[in-house]
Amino acid sequence: MIDLLSDTVTRPTPEMLNAMFSARVGDDVFSEDPTVNELQEKAADLFGMEAALFCPSGTMTNQIAVNVHTRPGDEIIAHQYSHIYNYEGGGAAFNSGCQMRLLEGDRGLLKADSVENAINNRFDIHAARTSLVAMENTCNKGGGSCYEWDTLVEIGEVARLNDLAYHLDGARLFNALVAKNQPAKDYGELFDSISICLSKGLGCPVGSLLLGTEPFIKEALRVRKKFGGGMRQAGYLAAAGIYALDHHVERLAEDHEKARLLEAALKNCSWVKSVEPVETNIVIFYLHDNRDPKIFTRDLAEKGIRIISMGQGKLRMVTHLDVSKENIQKAASLLEEF
Ligand SMILES: *Cc1c(COP(=O)(O)O)cnc(C)c1O
Repeated sequence: MIDLLSDTVTRPTPEMLNAMFSARVGDDVFSEDPTVNELQEKAADLFGMEAALFCPSGTMTNQIAVNVHTRPGDEIIAHQYSHIYNYEGGGAAFNSGCQMRLLEGDRGLLKADSVENAINNRFDIHAARTSLVAMENTCNKGGGSCYEWDTLVEIGEVARLNDLAYHLDGARLFNALVAKNQPAKDYGELFDSISICLSKGLGCPVGSLLLGTEPFIKEALRVRKKFGGGMRQAGYLAAAGIYALDHHVERLAEDHEKARLLEAALKNCSWVKSVEPVETNIVIFYLHDNRDPKIFTRDLAEKGIRIISMGQGKLRMVTHLDVSKENIQKAASLLEEF
């Protein structure tokens, strides 16, 4: 099976497993796991941020950020495609009592003027207090789309002038950094908090990091405890993260190349209505109206290719470390014959 379901399906490489086996560990709930501490410091340094916190999932890092940046009854501005809104089980409402103001924008990307127009008047007691702008880069449901740097700066300016916290769901931020050839430190300077996933394109079995200022991470540590996310000898997992930051970032360019091969193949298929422009490791395409996405994905699985249907007619393929270029070429010819 050529598994293009998600970049989360990867298994640790032998080298990563070796790093995990030989990790030095301690009790991380007492902040005494040397490998977790090393990973947190390494990630914070990489982004030029003060501190970082290792968590079990990207949902948790996003939800902790929401909790620390807001008060119950507040409003969060985000894109209607955002993971925080669509795929976190209503967590912003459940965990933090917040409602969301969802905006439109091409391929999951927001613009500064629409963010500015969505901010409630803080002197109007009838309106919810807007307190957070939650961005996503790359945007998953937008087809792995990347923001232009200027847009991120403009929206950051709007947030700053209006006293709003500026959070980035960077589950696949490294894909954007590699695609745009941009240093991580730019992002560290711009955002109040950043969530990155180690378990996506970086190929770790588990783990995400939340980055921010020292006081923010201190508060985040308390919230992680409340959310039940404190782990003990988590250094075995953190060792995979250190290994991935050292060895699996630059190779993301290969995943992007593989995604472009799939894009080219789909463009040759008569049954494909359209393909979204590929920027990173995600390919989203649409079938002609008479084809049922459910039956299509099932038939494709029978031919040996696993993909996912995301609703609204969107079909998604994701390239990753565990699918070789040869397998992608095989998948491309299977698609063209399909
Ligand atoms: C995967 C993902 C997350 C976090 O998901 P977990 O499965 O909880 O790690 C957050 N945001 C985006 C955009 C994602 O793709």
